[in-house]
Amino acid sequence: MEHKNIWTKYNAAQVAEIMSYNDGYKAYISECKTERECVARAVQDAEAHGYLDLKEIIREGKTVKAGDKVYFNNMGKALVLFHVGTEELEKGMKILGAHIDSPRMDLKQNPLYEDTELAFLDTHYYGGIKKYQWVTLPLALHGVVVKKDGTTINLVIGESEDDPVVGITDLLPHLAGAQMDKKAGKVIEGEDLNLLIGSIPLEGEEKDAVKANILKWLKDTYDMEEEDFLSAEIEAVPAGRAKDYGVDRSMIIGYGQDDRVCAYTSYTALFEVENPDRTNVCLLVDKEEIGSQGATGMCSQFFENAVAELMNCMGTYSELKVRRAMQNSVMFSSDVSAAFDPIYPTVNEKKNAAYLNRGISFNKYTGLRGKSGSNDANPEFIARIRAALEKHQVSYQMTELGKVDEGGGGTIAKYMAVYNMEVIDSGVPVLSMHSPWEVVSKADVYEAKQGYVAFLKEM
Ligand code: MN
Ligand code: MN
Repeated sequence: MEHKNIWTKYNAAQVAEIMSYNDGYKAYISECKTERECVARAVQDAEAHGYLDLKEIIREGKTVKAGDKVYFNNMGKALVLFHVGTEELEKGMKILGAHIDSPRMDLKQNPLYEDTELAFLDTHYYGGIKKYQWVTLPLALHGVVVKKDGTTINLVIGESEDDPVVGITDLLPHLAGAQMDKKAGKVIEGEDLNLLIGSIPLEGEEKDAVKANILKWLKDTYDMEEEDFLSAEIEAVPAGRAKDYGVDRSMIIGYGQDDRVCAYTSYTALFEVENPDRTNVCLLVDKEEIGSQGATGMCSQFFENAVAELMNCMGTYSELKVRRAMQNSVMFSSDVSAAFDPIYPTVNEKKNAAYLNRGISFNKYTGLRGKSGSNDANPEFIARIRAALEKHQVSYQMTELGKVDEGGGGTIAKYMAVYNMEVIDSGVPVLSMHSPWEVVSKADVYEAKQGYVAFLKEM
């Protein structure tokens, strides 16, 4: 199979379009660093495109008809966008799914302590990380604190130019002899991922005066007490904006591109396609990085419930029809793939690796140790996808994560396959995946969006 670097296929106008689309994407990943921020942004963008809140429609007893656009917000951490088609819902939907949670460090529920006149916030990391990559970086805090009276404090510290940042310190090389002899997984221990957040003691305070000063700052700034951390969800993430990467500006470096690159490309593709035949759907879910459990993850029934609610608003609800709607659907379970890295060639089998600048990648299957735990897409389905992509001149590659028995992973695909729908893993190749600063190709980002448009138009 011949593969070309896809940059060679574009004319100047197309390159300009790719750069401009990626500017929008860069802004999105710079400003949306938690699942909640991703949902809030998608809702805002959806409303600007004419989407209405399905819950409001239900409350007001209104109806939904072909051509309408509605969204279902699940706890502010997962979202479904429906662009209702002219065909009956039971004929199935075309679903673009992606996850909006990313690896990070979450504050513990009792996080604040002082040691040797330094104040720290204790964390519990979320998702698969190489812990040694997360020290000595400027980190920002994003999240919510919900007080007993129900008021929610939305908090972002460390993103504005003049904002302070926090971070995790590391040993100097001069004293790191014993540390450097440890295995990489033990060099930095999970329990040592403690964020240094202050060092000035509160005047007149005898014990834990630095912590007391932080508490005073929290009270003055957010009107919060130490106990309010009990009902808070605060994530420590790399501080700062995504940037062009490479002197030719062909790539983007940014935090959380797994899997917000697929989220952004999916929902912007949804906005681009008008007059759908079958209902077009974009599904943005939480908790993928920790196994998709939980009410806002793909294992939750919220999507199925949202479909039932939508059908009810259209006056055609029945249990059987909901089942048919799910079973007759087709889905791109979009998640990033590891891009081949020539510095580490031994983990991949070259014929079947995903490469930067070869377009949207498809994994027929994922899993590990003999495809275990994987959805395995049907060739009949893949053939239709090939035809759709080629009709729209989308560049794509058919790939695997790594060498057989090298490792592996799972996605949300298998949880949707439960409904007996056709589903395949697709996405954008990423370098330094799951690191604080991941790298993608702008051309691949653009081809992914084009691939999603082709899927919605042709399948
Ligand atoms: Mn992912
Ligand atoms: Mn991941």
